[in-house]
Amino acid sequence: MRLGVLALQGDVPEHLRVLREVVPDPVAVRSPADLDRVGALFLPGGESTTIARLIEQMGLWQPLRERIDRGLPVLATCAGLILLSRELAPSAFGRDPPTFAALDVRVRRNDYGSQRESFEAPVRFDGLAGPPFPGVFIRSPRILAVGPEAAPIAWRGDEIVGVRQGPRWGLTFHPELANDLRVHRRFLAEAKRSA
Ligand code: GLN
Repeated sequence: MRLGVLALQGDVPEHLRVLREVVPDPVAVRSPADLDRVGALFLPGGESTTIARLIEQMGLWQPLRERIDRGLPVLATCAGLILLSRELAPSAFGRDPPTFAALDVRVRRNDYGSQRESFEAPVRFDGLAGPPFPGVFIRSPRILAVGPEAAPIAWRGDEIVGVRQGPRWGLTFHPELANDLRVHRRFLAEAKRSA
């Protein structure tokens, strides 16, 4: 299965570097033709309003929507999670982008505020053996509510920091910055099974 990273803006090089450790030839997805080549997609962190605008400009909104609806496995981190969310609570910092409404969660951008924009914290990740996952949170969104279609998969203390809805995963932290491949490997194994 070819893995792709939406490569319009954000921490794309970091994703590609990590993906090269788990698959031979990850695809940097910038066009509908690129999207056709992949069987699973990473939506990176970055600036969600910018990424949304570029998705539109590159003619990717509709093709992406159709692939997601047909069951494309997607691992969305941070800004990626924002773009998949069903609903955004208005953010105190800046405008909110349009979303694919493909993950039954209510999310608020930049909800950890300016004091604690970025931090690291251990994350308990459902089904991962070994120590807690090192969570890297960078101007993270916060998951405010999880609807009936989605289920929590990751927690920082009592707080939900990851959810999934079938083949779609959304995380508020950045596994591509953690030096730990467990989340990538698990996502890939499940994506292959669902293909
Ligand atoms: N604050 C960014 C946004 O709202 C997300 C941050 C990130 O992806 N690291 O788009």
